Amino acid sequence: MNNNIKNTEKYDVVIVGAGPAGSTAAFYTENLKVLIVDKFDFPRHKACGGGLMSSKDWSLELENYKRIKDELKSFSCKSIKMYWNKMFVAKCDFKHLFDQVSRYEFDELLLKEALKKENVKFLKFDLQMIEKKKLNGKDVFKLSDGQAEIETDYIIGADGMHSKVSKFLGNKNHKRHQFGYCMEYEINCEKKDLNVHVVAGYKWEIGYGWIFPTLNGYQVGIGIIRKPRKSLNYYLDDFLAWSSEKELIPKEYVIEKRFGGALPLKVVKNYCTDNILLCGDAMGLVKLLTGEGIYYAMKSGKAAGQTLTESQKDIKKRYKKKIKPLFWDTFLTPYVPPKIFTITFWSVFFHIGKIWNYFPIGNILVKFFIKMAIHRKSSRKDSYYHDEKIKIGK
Ligand SMILES: Cc1cc2nc3c(=O)[nH]c(=O)nc-3n(C[C@H](O)[C@H](O)[C@H](O)COP(=O)(O)OP(=O)(O)OC[C@H]3O[C@@H](n4cnc5c(N)ncnc54)[C@H](O)[C@@H]3O)c2cc1C
Repeated sequence: MNNNIKNTEKYDVVIVGAGPAGSTAAFYTENLKVLIVDKFDFPRHKACGGGLMSSKDWSLELENYKRIKDELKSFSCKSIKMYWNKMFVAKCDFKHLFDQVSRYEFDELLLKEALKKENVKFLKFDLQMIEKKKLNGKDVFKLSDGQAEIETDYIIGADGMHSKVSKFLGNKNHKRHQFGYCMEYEINCEKKDLNVHVVAGYKWEIGYGWIFPTLNGYQVGIGIIRKPRKSLNYYLDDFLAWSSEKELIPKEYVIEKRFGGALPLKVVKNYCTDNILLCGDAMGLVKLLTGEGIYYAMKSGKAAGQTLTESQKDIKKRYKKKIKPLFWDTFLTPYVPPKIFTITFWSVFFHIGKIWNYFPIGNILVKFFIKMAIHRKSSRKDSYYHDEKIKIGK
């Protein structure tokens, strides 16, 4: 997907990273000469559960998603079963819980949608260095991959968890308790159980294991915050064996692929200036309780694209204003230190949830958790989820 552009040209905006954040940012720019760069050509693999949570009004709020929706292959789920370290806690049913998509396909469709715009071009370019210089009293940035150089007035940093743009803004690496490390298997098999399974605190580690039904079978993964006692490979294989033993997945399956990746759990300190805006994982905007990040990447990308399109004045102030509501939605990410969620906190929480669930009014706690972390009805009157009623079962 290379547009054969001359990289000696100067751009109004260079977007680093063509994941959901970068492609959405590009889609929402107008009347600006925009270049999206990515170190990979597309399509490319990205370690991800690919779960698009339904309580977000994707089609109403993200025009680029609406345009690719019909072409996108996905598998829909309606129910989730929650466990605490192998102990079943509750089952929750919804009108629609989520769509599982392949990031290989999803990210390529989003990038293609952005490239339909005449002002947007793509270049395979592995950013290594950024240099700031003054030209006629104005800041201009030189981006280099070690060979070629690109000049631009504004940068949108959408280059994921290990963002070089974020480092340029002075942000330090995330500490070990500020990110989750995940590993997952794509398995091919016959599908019998169509529930999503989420196993929190697997083997007393902070994080969770998940089983998502996919088009060809299941995705089985595990994510852990902080340094685990054993290797992630060990936990993933153990979790896979347990899932099969409990018949959450069939006894017979073929492991198609294995992926690993990290995701940030804390918004970085400096996420914007008047020339540089970070979004998505580069900014650290991921839901603290679940690690959900695709929606927030796209919403922050939209905010970045719109901010630069609207005007070149007060960029930092206007971007912050657009981004603030997302902070609340991701559960106060910049303000809540992930450290407070200790294994004891979660153990007590889920045990109370399990016990309460035996009483008629007892599922308040489980419902509260579901609404905070996973799914709640939409406040938009035109939303399919406006009248959502969550059913909690035992
Ligand atoms: C295992 C795992 C499972 C997950 N499951 C889910 C889920 O089910 N649902 C959900 O909502 N979220 C999930 N997430 C989180 C989600 O994947 C991220 O929040 C989301 O991908 C963020 O999008 P982004 O565009 O900000 O970054 P990315 O998707 O990471 O895209 C960044 C892009 O920048 C490019 N790039 C990086 N460095 C450079 C460079 N130097 N030069 C040029 N290009 C560069 C990369 O190649 C990449 O294409 C999961 C994450 C992991 C790790």
